[in-house]
Amino acid sequence: MPTTSERPHFAAWLADTARDPEIGFEVEELSAEARGWYASVFDSHGEVPPPYLVGFLLERRVSVATTALDLLRMAAERDLGYPLALEVWTEPQASDETWVGVHGDRVRALGVQEAMATVASAVQDLVAGAHRAVWPTCAVHRLGLHPVLADGRAVWHCRTRGHQLPMP
Ligand SMILES: [Zn+2]
Repeated sequence: MPTTSERPHFAAWLADTARDPEIGFEVEELSAEARGWYASVFDSHGEVPPPYLVGFLLERRVSVATTALDLLRMAAERDLGYPLALEVWTEPQASDETWVGVHGDRVRALGVQEAMATVASAVQDLVAGAHRAVWPTCAVHRLGLHPVLADGRAVWHCRTRGHQLPMP
């Protein structure tokens, strides 16, 4: 029994969706998590047309951004010792689309790991801008860490010696 993502109808729907001017993405560039999300939408609702899918996308982006922000804000507040004024925002556009973001960064991710990488950068920007602090730092090298995606997982990258540390 083939999995959903191998079925021809799913592949055709995903390709049509990818070509939609408002949704537009490259099928080959979808992460496993994002592809899994599209497969679950297809399983539950069938060939959802773009105007309806926009609502599903908004709900999903708010969900992954909220999950990512909850984890990262908790870690940052614990390390820094003060509260951070951060929340997930949404902003309707002239098109049917609504943008989702945290601080100055728009979250387009459909997977939690990709959202973690974007939201981590947003948390860092706020900490740097509003608090003149660097978060997080490498305990060994004392320098700021940078969010990256490594094999689909969001991690902190230390440019000294190029090693990586887990995110919360
Ligand atoms: Zn280091």
